Amino acid sequence: MRADVITIFPDYFAPLELSLVGKARAMGVLDLQVHDLRTWTSDVHRTVDDTPYGGGPGMVMRPEPWGQALEAVGDGTLIVPSPVGKPFTQADAYEIAGLDHLIFACGRYEGIDQRVIDEAAARMPVREISLGDYVLFGGEVAVIVIMEAVTRLLPGVLGNASSLDEESHAAGLLEAPVYTKPASWRDREVPEILRSGDHGKIARWRRDQSLLRTAARRPDMMASYPRESLDKADRKALDEGGFRITPPAVAE
Ligand code: SAM
Repeated sequence: MRADVITIFPDYFAPLELSLVGKARAMGVLDLQVHDLRTWTSDVHRTVDDTPYGGGPGMVMRPEPWGQALEAVGDGTLIVPSPVGKPFTQADAYEIAGLDHLIFACGRYEGIDQRVIDEAAARMPVREISLGDYVLFGGEVAVIVIMEAVTRLLPGVLGNASSLDEESHAAGLLEAPVYTKPASWRDREVPEILRSGDHGKIARWRRDQSLLRTAARRPDMMASYPRESLDKADRKALDEGGFRITPPAVAE
């Protein structure tokens, strides 16, 4: 995967040289290039912003440097972090992980002149993505979040790719709690069943915990979890945990 990030703060992206994203880059799975938007300015002050048409507070990013920057990196899928975008989910991460060329446009101030996004959308797919219902100073942190979520899905990046399947949000549920050694710590014991060696029972326990956690912490996720994916044992676990799940409607 190739990813071009355009920003006025290239130094922000130092974390993407570390850990597994750094490893993915070293392996050649991810070719991530960070570009300084000011490269494409033409005045002595390297200006990228101006006052908003229509008045109001703050500044808006001018279209000319953005137009040139986007031409320089070529076409791909343009990702514009924005509080007006679609909230980012694991499903988006999977979709984005399947793309060949990502271009990230990091807004600052009051955002980027809308014409930049409209013009880009006329020649390539554009995804405006929000990290959540709050406002950040700029798109840089959002790009780091998106690239962390996407890079771990790229082939060969995780040692044990099967761990992805049971993770929170992989299949509409939260993951069960996890434990490691020692078996006893400050009078707190690892659940006996996890030490039993009985893989069937361990799988059942994890499934139950996953269902109960999701029902308790994220009723919204539980409500949209497909009812036909809940078997008898799942329903029993939820029932015993005090969560009543309406059975699927029977077709007439
Ligand atoms: N005036 C804009 C608004 O109210 O929608 C907010 C601009 S914000 C101060 C500057 C930049 O930060 C945005 O252009 C965007 O790139 C980024 N940003 C802010 N909040 C974000 C969020 N929740 N998700 C993704 N990016 C965000």
